[in-house]
Amino acid sequence: MCTLPLTRRALSSQQSPLASVVVLSYKQSMMDSPAALPEPYPQGTIISCPATSCGVRLYRLCEAASFVEVVLQDKKLLVPINAAIPARSVWEALACPLCGTALTDEGRLHTAAYGWR
Ligand SMILES: [Zn+2]
Repeated sequence: MCTLPLTRRALSSQQSPLASVVVLSYKQSMMDSPAALPEPYPQGTIISCPATSCGVRLYRLCEAASFVEVVLQDKKLLVPINAAIPARSVWEALACPLCGTALTDEGRLHTAAYGWR
């Protein structure tokens, strides 16, 4: 097994341990397939729950952003669709607040229009 040459110092102290894991797996996938450069998600992208029994539309992306920005940046990129959806906290895993299903999968987000993307 090779380990990434990433020290604790290199990781922002602003990130939660879970966020660090997400970034590490994301960087690993980028190194595995460098041709697959991340396209930013366009402004207005709707993030929805991937669970078939739930499938609720959750957040709207208020400006174009990459996967890492959406998942890790502590600013209001994801705006709840309606008042029933709690505001997203960057300190918590990006998951459906209603059923707990993860909204991320190997560097992709689950969008209402295109599914995993
Ligand atoms: Zn859900």
